[in-house]
Order: sequence, then structure tokens, then C-alpha cells
Amino acid sequence: MLRPSTAGFRRLLPLLLPHRRALLGGGLCMLVFVACWPLLAWLAGQLIPAIGAGDLPRVLRVIGLALGVFMVQKLAQFGQDSLLAEPALLVSQDLRRQLFARLQRLDFGALEKLSAGDLTYRLTEDADRVGEVIYKTIQDTTPSALQLVVVFGYMVWLDWPLSLATLVLAPVVAVLVSVFGARVMQAAERSQKQVSELAGLLGEAIGGLPLVRAFAAEPWLQQRFEEEIDLHRRARYRTQQLLALQYPVVGFLEAAGILAVLLIGAARIQAGGLDAQGFSSYVTALLMLIDPISHLTTNFNEFQQGQASLRRLREIEREPVEAPDRPDALPLPLGQVAGRLELREVTFGYAPDQPVLRGLDLTVAAGQVVALVGPSGAGKSTLFSLLLRFNTAQQGQVLLDGHDLAGLRAHELRRAVALVPQQSSVFSGTVAEAIAFGRPASREQIREAARLANADGFIEALPQGYDSRIEERGSNFSGGQLQRLAIARAVLGNPAVLLLDEATSALDAEAEAAVQRGLDQAMAGRTVLVIAHRLATVQTADRIVVLEAGQIIEQGSHGALMASGGRYREFCERQLIHLGSD
Ligand code: ADP
Repeated sequence: MLRPSTAGFRRLLPLLLPHRRALLGGGLCMLVFVACWPLLAWLAGQLIPAIGAGDLPRVLRVIGLALGVFMVQKLAQFGQDSLLAEPALLVSQDLRRQLFARLQRLDFGALEKLSAGDLTYRLTEDADRVGEVIYKTIQDTTPSALQLVVVFGYMVWLDWPLSLATLVLAPVVAVLVSVFGARVMQAAERSQKQVSELAGLLGEAIGGLPLVRAFAAEPWLQQRFEEEIDLHRRARYRTQQLLALQYPVVGFLEAAGILAVLLIGAARIQAGGLDAQGFSSYVTALLMLIDPISHLTTNFNEFQQGQASLRRLREIEREPVEAPDRPDALPLPLGQVAGRLELREVTFGYAPDQPVLRGLDLTVAAGQVVALVGPSGAGKSTLFSLLLRFNTAQQGQVLLDGHDLAGLRAHELRRAVALVPQQSSVFSGTVAEAIAFGRPASREQIREAARLANADGFIEALPQGYDSRIEERGSNFSGGQLQRLAIARAVLGNPAVLLLDEATSALDAEAEAAVQRGLDQAMAGRTVLVIAHRLATVQTADRIVVLEAGQIIEQGSHGALMASGGRYREFCERQLIHLGSD
């Protein structure tokens, strides 16, 4: 059960501060809007007896006045709504902006713990819900609460004993109504759960249709589905029944409450405490309470849901972010990095007690090409993640040109060490944007990078050249083209070190040759660590390092390792190196 605490939302208040002028203007309009209510109730008190007495001139006068008040009130409402809408929307935009900035800095461990789907849900649905609550609170809850206070204050001023009676009756009605509302909510939640179970089964069923058919299990699946839709129908029916009951019951309770106030009012008139005009105003004011009360209860329910969403957003804020650079971090001027890599007795595990890399020693001279080979899970990608400082070794040191990575600035390090990932994912946008990837680069530099990656030919053949659009997930480009774009993106900043994760999925011979040409040009003059799957790569590497279970078990040239007949040779023979792809 959610606790209706405002603590989470209260912490959003600082976000409102920059918008205080609009809030002040909107607030003033709100005061005018609310102040009109007791005025209208008073006018109703004047009007009803005048109508009863058939006093037409007086009726006309009061109606004219009421029209004027209504006009002022609606103008004020317009001012309130339009002035407050912007700060309310800006606050939820600020919240999203801050969360996304946080997301970009999250520690990789934390990022993996929260799935992409979950994060997307939080940043869209949850953020929307919180935004809605902020909006409603500013624009609806506040004026409704104010209206409640002002109108009730007017009723107390009119006749406090009668107001006292109302004050006793109202909570009784409100409690009965909310008890009922809670039951409806529970039933609705159960029905919602049933819907998601149905969706789950459907997802599973659609994905598994061939399997079901292969096992002739259709009757079984049909029966499971029918049981599920039966449960779904029942849950829905219970909600519908409760809803069907809710309106009459709530309506009756409200009517009974009002009738009770009328009865007490009649007694007050008889006792001489109130006149007919005052009583008319009182009843009108009473009716004016129904609307804000119903707004407040609806908003309260949404507020509770929003509270849960806000908590889910706050969880992202509690996740650890990447460690900031040390204050004494060394600068790493881009042109002056030679690219010598060294790992000294590096031990690292995602969980500290389960090392993935164990006491690894490796030195790669500037300009050397080292191929990493080993079975899946050996720790090759983990090694890359240490070189990019995505993770930090628990023991030992990782050095670039003799500097411990921990003492460098992350941004500069990542400009010097460029990654070509296995899945050549490019962001949507133009080709030029995909290569520049947010870095300031002239068209000439982009062309040069594309030329190195052997991508210039196909890019220039596109109708719009470098301004051609890449669709989401690069769906309008071939695998080989995307790989070459990823190579161009990597070499754009002229990095000293290239980390290359070779794609395992085979391209056709022609595309393969084009990518290989791009790679050869891109690798020239750089230190390269490549997670190798291809014979061409291992054959041309200066050295092959064989990793297994986080340790180096062999190293040497292709020929030497083949001749020694160890694990490497076994890999080649078991086709872990794609002998046939060349
Ligand atoms: P390789 O690239 O050689 O296939 P990895 O470096 O990806 O190997 O993985 C080495 C080991 O670390 C594997 O046992 C893998 O399950 C584990 N591992 C990889 N990434 C993570 C992670 N983010 N969190 C926890 N364990 C991981």
C-alpha cells in the first residue's frame, strides 16, 4: 500500500524556482478565480428569494451582476490556466532532462542491472505520470483546495452551527465514498494484472506457434488460453459490478448528506439563526463544494500513482554514476599519445569475489597489432572495458604511455582509444553526423575518416552523399557499409589506439574484402587490439594472445602457435577462427 507522502514531490520544488514570475501571475489569477465563488453564492442568495417574490427588476439587477462576476471569474481562470501551464510543463521537462543526463553518466554495472526496456518505461511512462501530477497539482489541486477553504469559510461566516453539522456529515460521506473507491481500485488493479498475464501468454504463444504445431500441442495451448480469458472476463466483471454499484451508492450518500443539511437548515431558520437569503446562499455554497472535492479525490489517486512513479525515477538517481576524474588528473593532449599499452598483474571481476581477469600481464608497443583469441567468456571484451575505463581493475594497473588510466581524464582517454564494436550500431541521422558522432569535425575531416575506412566510395555514390539519412538501427544500409561507417567514426579523431571487436557474422566475400581494406587502412600507424575471429586478422597480427578463463595461456605468431600444437591450434581446428572466411 502506498503511503500518501509528499516528501518525494516536495523535493521537486526547487525546479519551480526559476518560474516564479509565471507562478506569481498565475497565483494572482487563481485568487481572483476562487474569490468569485463566495460572491456568486451570495448573489444566488439574493436571487432565489427575489425570484420567489416575483421581483423582476431586482432579479434583472442580480443576474446582470452575476454575469459580470462570471465573466471576471472565467477571465481569471484563463489567466491561471495559461500562466501555470508553462511552468508545470517545464518542471517535468527539467526532470526528464536531469534523469537523462544522469542516465548518460551511470556506472555500467548499474546500467546493466536496469534493463533497457525498464529504463525506457521509466523515462517515458513514469516521467509522464509524474509530469501529470505536477501539472495537476499546480493547476487543479491547488485551486480546488483553495476553493474548498474559501467557500467553506464563507459558509462558516453565514452560519457556523450549520457549518459544524456539515463538517460532521461531510467526513462520514467522504469515508463511505472512499472505502468504496478503494475496493473499486483493488478490483481494477486485479483486472489490470489479468490483462498483463493475458498479454504475456499471447506473446509466448505467438513466438512459440511453430513449436506448438510441431508438438501438436494446439488443444493444450487453446485450453490454457481459454482459461486465461475466462479469468480475465471474471476480473473485468467484478470491476464492472463494483462500478455499477459505485455511482448509485455514492450518489445516494451525497443526496442524503445534502438532504440532512437542508433539514438542519430548516431547523436553523425556525430557530431564527438564519434567513431565507442566507440559507439560499448556504445551499449554493454547499453545492460549490462538490466539484473541488471530487477533483481532490481523483487527483489524490493520481498523486498516489505518481508517488510510485517518482520513486521509480528516484531509483535511477540512487544508482552509482561513473567515478569522476581525479582533480589531479593528467591532461592527455591528443596529438601526443604514442599508444603504448601495458597491463600489470591486472585482476578484475564484475563481482569482486569472482575474478574474470586474473593477474593479467600484457604489453603492447606503440603501433603494434595484437590479436586476442579465446573462447567466449574468456574475458576479451572485459579487457576492452578496462582499456576504456568503463571498469577499473581491482588489482594491478592499466597504463597508456606509462600513465595509469585511473589518473587520466576519461574524455581524453576515450578520444585516444577508439572502439569499433562488434555490432556496428550507428545512431540515426545523416551519414556525416554518424561519423562525427557529436565531435566538432569539418566536412574535410569526415571525408578523410570515411576514406580511411574505405567508406567514401559508397557514401559519395548515395544521392545525398554525406547528407543521406540513416534510418533507426541503420536499417537502410548493408552490414558491410555499417561496419565501414563504424570504422570511420572510430578513426575520425585520429586515435592512437584502436580496439576492434571483429564481427562474427559472415559478410559476403566482396563486402568482407571492402571492410578488410578499410580496417587495414584504419589500423596503419596505430596500436591495435583486436578480438579476432578471422584468419586474415590473426595472420597479419604482430602477436596473437590466447586468453582462457581470464589468463594468457599462449602468445606468439600464427605460425609459431600453429607449430607448437597448443590451444591456439585447437581453436583453429575447431573453427573458432574462421578459416574459411577468406
Ligand atoms: P569474451 O569477450 O571473451 O567472450 P567477456 O569479457 O564478455 O568474455 O566475459 C568474461 C566473463 O565475464 C564471462 O563469464 C561473462 O559472463 C562475465 N561478464 C561479462 N560482462 C559482464 C557484466 N557486465 N556483468 C557481469 N559479468 C559479466
